[in-house]
Amino acid sequence: MTAKIIDGKAFAGRMREKVAAHVARLKEEHGVTPGLAVVLVGDDPASDIYVRSKGKMTKAVGMLSLEYRLSADVAEAEVLRLVADLNADPKVHGILVQLPLPKGMDEAKVLATIDPAKDVDGFHISNVGLLATGQRAMVPCTPLGCLMMLRDHHGDLTGMDAVVIGRSNIVGKPMAQLLLGESCTVTIAHSRTRNLAEVVRRADIVVAAVGRPQMVPGDWIKPGATVVDVGINRTDTGLVGDVDFASASQVAGAITPVPGGVGPMTIACLLANTVTACCRANGWAEPDGLTA
Ligand code: NAP
Repeated sequence: MTAKIIDGKAFAGRMREKVAAHVARLKEEHGVTPGLAVVLVGDDPASDIYVRSKGKMTKAVGMLSLEYRLSADVAEAEVLRLVADLNADPKVHGILVQLPLPKGMDEAKVLATIDPAKDVDGFHISNVGLLATGQRAMVPCTPLGCLMMLRDHHGDLTGMDAVVIGRSNIVGKPMAQLLLGESCTVTIAHSRTRNLAEVVRRADIVVAAVGRPQMVPGDWIKPGATVVDVGINRTDTGLVGDVDFASASQVAGAITPVPGGVGPMTIACLLANTVTACCRANGWAEPDGLTA
């Protein structure tokens, strides 16, 4: 079998078009422009690239993009003050504090300061709790992007066996919650899981979010399964995922490539979350298809 390639780049492009159409409508109907504020502390080069690209895409869909760059040695209190100002700013509907923060800064405290209604990354403990209890939340962007691709490919996911490899707060755990919300039977695997190959072999859906290059070989995949590869690993031969694409794509029914799979969906979902947050803040109907 040769798997269908799930083209995340094209999907993300369509999603940004959808977001842009909603932004235009909100401007026309209500005179409101959704605004996203991104806070970058320090000069981590990878974070700098992400922040630039977020800013560019935010503007491209017609939203207001605000960028705040603080030096690595800034006092934590100043970051907290900036977040509090953004919480109070009516032009700002989404706030994202780029992680990781410099050493010595209390990440949890900074994230907890963000107004949950503006928490477009979905990392605030209130949103984590809302998602875990099946209530309306701001949903973390990467797992949201994975869910959207899975829904697009399968339609209904009810009753499917899903294995999520990885239990991080930003990918693995929220991904598992979302799949549970779709009535999948969900297993969360991690570094202490016994017989991982056997666990993965029974899955109709495999989401790999580990950070180990090509760790999941094709012979772990059930024939016809759908494989979503979240991993982004830089190797001597270029960017690779957590799944061995060459062998897995011979067995799977569908698979996301790296690059061009989950990656582009993350920023598209960030933009979608900002529109969702803007609509919720104003009590307007939420656009269909932009959130879980
Ligand atoms: P993380 O916080 O490092 O978590 C990795 C998880 O993998 C942990 O739960 C760990 O288990 C598990 N793990 C490690 N070795 C394992 C093994 N041998 N077998 C089974 N599980 C193992 O990573 P993350 O932030 O979730 O990111 C995961 C990957 O996704 C990375 O490559 C990252 O770059 C990528 N990523 C991509 C996007 C995107 O936009 N596409 C966004 C976020 C992350 P323990 O908990 O037991 O240690």
